[in-house]
Amino acid sequence: MNIKMLHTVIDRVFSADLPDCADIEYLLSLEHDREITVLFDCADMVRKEFVGDEILLRGLVEFSNYCRNTCFYCGLNKNNKQLQRYRLTDDQIMSAVKEIADAKIKTVVLQSGEDDDLDAFWLKKLIEQIKTNFDIAVTLSVGERSYEDYKLWRQAGVDRYLLKIETTDRELYQSLHSQRSFENRLKCSRNLKKLDYQNGSGCLVGLKGQTIKSLAEDIIFFKKENFEMIGIGLFIPHASTPLKNEPLGNLKLALKVIAITRIVTKDANMPATTAIGSIGKNDNRILALKAGANVLMPNFTPLPYRKLYEIYPGKRCVFEQSDERIEYIESMAESINRTINYSRGDLIKHKTQNSVIAMSANYKNN
Ligand code: SF4
Repeated sequence: MNIKMLHTVIDRVFSADLPDCADIEYLLSLEHDREITVLFDCADMVRKEFVGDEILLRGLVEFSNYCRNTCFYCGLNKNNKQLQRYRLTDDQIMSAVKEIADAKIKTVVLQSGEDDDLDAFWLKKLIEQIKTNFDIAVTLSVGERSYEDYKLWRQAGVDRYLLKIETTDRELYQSLHSQRSFENRLKCSRNLKKLDYQNGSGCLVGLKGQTIKSLAEDIIFFKKENFEMIGIGLFIPHASTPLKNEPLGNLKLALKVIAITRIVTKDANMPATTAIGSIGKNDNRILALKAGANVLMPNFTPLPYRKLYEIYPGKRCVFEQSDERIEYIESMAESINRTINYSRGDLIKHKTQNSVIAMSANYKNN
């Protein structure tokens, strides 16, 4: 174990305009607890310096679990005939948004599968209604759509869009998404950037056939594309998918991806994802928050439907009422000396170079 060399590599990855793939692979391959602790501590330091100690909140409303796709890792895939499908009504969505606003949360995330029946003009009207009635940022996550749809929703006032790339390894991507093309996903992501959305991406750790190199390339992709939001998920096998017999993704590896992504991208808003919090007895979102994450996404989907949005089994927070949810989040933040930030939490892009240099010096002194 060579801690000095580890610091040198972290410093190089931190300072580089575009980090070297081999350096990231080295960090992803760390095995000794002491080395991994150094990595997480450095990521936590970068998080503190660039996005502060406050945890941002995004209220999630999963408004439809219909999906036209067959992503091999996802329980909402259209071939899952066991799943009861639902679409929330306008009133149900508006009342969930009101619950979010009443909880003083200033962002709603409207999420659905790629629902063939999702009418772009219906959604536009709904967004306008939300914007008229509430002082709240709106994030959409409804998958791949045309440039015109993205433009329509942006003009209606949508602030942010989440479209995870899942993996930048084209071959792996194609093996998991028989009906979709990597090129189109990339095109959609870049269209969102063109339209000036705060743009979100992310990857899934633990996919069958994924390598350390491909994860390293995912992180480089996040840096190159300069995303405002990056979510790192964990593969959890779902019984009604083709990957049902594959092993659960490795939590420690997912935490390393979060930590390195933080060090490389510095100021991206990064959720401690529910998938990471849903394995084992303890809520591992705390570990993600200590390894570079700075966002939590409490779920406000009406209770009877929450369990039906089953991308993976065992989802945490399926039965919580809103008061207990906020109380729980507040106490989770307090337990790691962090606080909750109830503002919109828009990302202000990069700080000055001085700050980067100061941080590098800080590493060298540690
Ligand atoms: S990951 Fe998204 S697009 Fe793929 S099947 Fe699940 S909900 Fe549909």
